[in-house]
Amino acid sequence: MGIDVELIRGDFKNDVFNCAVCKQLLENPVEIFSCEHTFCKACLPDGINSCPECRTQFCPDHDVRPPCLFMKKTLAEIKLMCG
Ligand SMILES: [Zn+2]
Ligand SMILES: [Zn+2]
Repeated sequence: MGIDVELIRGDFKNDVFNCAVCKQLLENPVEIFSCEHTFCKACLPDGINSCPECRTQFCPDHDVRPPCLFMKKTLAEIKLMCG
């Protein structure tokens, strides 16, 4: 039977996979460790030290990391379906 595609699409509207800055699907996502918000790498300006979404202060050198494997894999699957 497989998974209902319409159901998956519904889940993809979840904000978790959208960048709060550009409102698009995350591109080269990076996660702010302090508040766990995720943005496109390009949407986080160099030297920024507070989250664009919730204003949590963070250290750009230590608190920004690539997202977990689950998010990377899910994003890759979404892109496959959209492309
Ligand atoms: Zn973005
Ligand atoms: Zn945040």
